[in-house]
Amino acid sequence: MIHVEKVRQYTYRDYLIPCLVVMVMTGLFYRLWNLQVVRSEDLKKEGKWFTRAINVKHAPRGKIVDRNGMLLAGVKKEFVFSIQAGYVKYNTELLNKLSSILEISVHEILDKIKSICYRPYLFTRLYTGISVEKAAMIAELEIFHKGIRVDSEPIRFYSSHKDYSHFLGYVHNPNEGEIQRLLDNGEKPRPVVGKSGIEYRYELKLMGIPGGENLDVDVRSKPLKLVSVKNPVPGSMLVLGIDQKLQEIATEGLKGRKGAVVALDPKSGEVLCLASSPAYNIERFKKGLTLKEWKDIRDDKSSPMLNRAVSSCYAPASIFKLVLAIAAMQKGIFSEHHYTYCGGYSQVGNRKFRCLSQHGEMNFFTALAKSCNTYFVDLALKIGIDGIRRTCEDLGLGEKTGIDIAGEITGIVPSESWIRKWRNPPVWRSGDTANLGLGQGEISVTPIQMAQIASVIASKGSRYTPHILKTEILPNGIMCSNSNDYFCKKINLPTHYWEILHKAMEQVVLFGTVSRYRIPGIDWCAKTGTAQHKKGEKPHSWCMAFGPKENPSIALCIIVESVGYGSQFAAPIAQLLINSYIRRHTPQNHASGVGEVDINISTDNQNL
Ligand SMILES: [Zn+2]
Repeated sequence: MIHVEKVRQYTYRDYLIPCLVVMVMTGLFYRLWNLQVVRSEDLKKEGKWFTRAINVKHAPRGKIVDRNGMLLAGVKKEFVFSIQAGYVKYNTELLNKLSSILEISVHEILDKIKSICYRPYLFTRLYTGISVEKAAMIAELEIFHKGIRVDSEPIRFYSSHKDYSHFLGYVHNPNEGEIQRLLDNGEKPRPVVGKSGIEYRYELKLMGIPGGENLDVDVRSKPLKLVSVKNPVPGSMLVLGIDQKLQEIATEGLKGRKGAVVALDPKSGEVLCLASSPAYNIERFKKGLTLKEWKDIRDDKSSPMLNRAVSSCYAPASIFKLVLAIAAMQKGIFSEHHYTYCGGYSQVGNRKFRCLSQHGEMNFFTALAKSCNTYFVDLALKIGIDGIRRTCEDLGLGEKTGIDIAGEITGIVPSESWIRKWRNPPVWRSGDTANLGLGQGEISVTPIQMAQIASVIASKGSRYTPHILKTEILPNGIMCSNSNDYFCKKINLPTHYWEILHKAMEQVVLFGTVSRYRIPGIDWCAKTGTAQHKKGEKPHSWCMAFGPKENPSIALCIIVESVGYGSQFAAPIAQLLINSYIRRHTPQNHASGVGEVDINISTDNQNL
C-alpha cells in the first residue's frame, strides 16, 4: 500500500502576522534612529522635549469708592514674595540668605511661615510690597532653591490706613475654610481673600476672574513658546453709600476716645458714615502679621478690632424716650396736651427715680426738651411692659438690622422668656418698667439700631435695612443697583404723630439739651442721652439726630464711651456731621453764605 504524505498548504494568513510585526518593528527602529541619530542635534537646539504649563495671571481686585467717587480701596502693582512652606522651612541655608536680604531675623520668618503651613506645597504670599532691589536678589536665589518665587502682582491698597478699617475690612492669605468656601462657589482659590467688612461680604463681586498664559516649557521649566493668552477680568467696582467727608469728621470727633458714629440716608437706608474708635491699621494686615503682632492687637484692652457700631451694645438711656413716645402713640394713649407734674423725682414701689431738676408742669414737648424723667416714668407705667416690647420689636430692637457687614449683635429687649431665663426670681415689677422706660436696666441697643430708629422717625415711618453697598459696576460698565430690596416695613402712625416727634426733637435743639449747638440757617432735630454703666466711671454720651427738619437727608446716632453727658460730647459731633452734609447737599445753603460752625464743648452739667 502506498502511503501518500499529506503536504500542508500555507495560506496568506500564515504570513500576515509576522509581516505586520516586522513592519511595525522596522517603523519603530526607523523613528528611533531618526530621532536619536539623524535629528538629534536639531532637536537639542530646539529643545522640543517640552511640557505644557499655565502661568496664572491674578485678577486685580475691584476698586471700592465712596458715594462721590472718591477712592477708598484700589490696586497697584507691587513685588510679592511667595513660598512653598514645605520646601523652605527646613532649608537653613535659604532661610539665612532670606533673613539677610529681607533684613528680618530667621525667627521672624519662621514665625510667619507657621501661619501659612496648613498649605505647605501651594505657593502662598509671605511678604508684599518688597523693594525692587530685594525682589531682584530673591529672584537670583530661585535658580538654586526650590519653593520661592517673586512676582509683580496687582495688590490691594487703601487710601486711609485707619478711617475705613471697620467697614472696609482687609484682605489676606485664605485659610483652609476660605479655600473650601471658594471651591463650594465654583471658584478657584485666590492668593488673598476678604477677611472682614465689605472685602469679606462682597468677596465674589470683588475678586474677578484670573487669566493665564499657556506656555510650552522645557524640562527646566524655561518658557519656549506662548501658545495662548487669557486676560484676567478685574473684579467689579463697588460704589458705597459712604460719604468720605462725613467719615473724616466722625473719625476726628471720636479721636482718642472709644465710641461709634453711624449716619444713614433716611430715604434709602444707605450708610453715609460708619466709624468705630479706636480703629486698626489695615496696612499692617495687608503686609501680613506675625503671630506676636496678631496677639498684641487681639489682646489690646481698647479692642481696636471691635466694631462698636454693630458689635457693641449699651443702655440707651434718654434716647429711649423717643421709643417710649412711639409706644404711647401706637397704644393710643398719647396726648401732647397732657401735663405731668415733676417734683424732682417719682416713686414707683420701693424705687425712687430722680430727675435732674424740679421741672414743674411738663407736657411732651417740654419734657423731651428737658429730658424730664418724671414725665417719662409716668408714660412708661401707662404703656406697660407689653406695649413697650411690641414697639421695640416693631422698630427692630432685640434683632439684627441686617447691615451688610459681619459681626452684628442683637442687643436685648427683656421678653417674658428672657425674664424666666435670666431673672432670679423670674418676676417683673412696675419699677422695672419705669427703669426700662428711662432706657436703663435690662435693655441694651447697638448704635446701628438707634441710627435706624432715627431714620424711621426722619422718614415718618419707613424702615430700611441699613446697607453700605450702593451700586456695583461690572467690569463691562453695567451698573447693578437693587435699592428696592432694602425696604423693610412701614411703621403705621398717623402723620401728625410723626410731626409731633419732629417738632419735639427740634425743640431739643432750639431750647433743650442741644441748644448750644444750633446751626444758623439749618433746622435740625435731636435727642441726647447719658447712660450710667459702671460705678465710679463717667457715663456714656449719646445723641440721635436728623436734618433738615423738612425733607431730611441724614439721620444719625453717636455714642462716646465713658466721657460724660450726651449734650457735651456726642451732640457737638452730630452738629458737625449735620452741618457738613446738609451744606453740601442743599443748594440754598451754599447761597446763604453761612460759614462753618465751630464745636463748643462746655463743662456745664446742666443738661442730660
Ligand atoms: Zn423732671
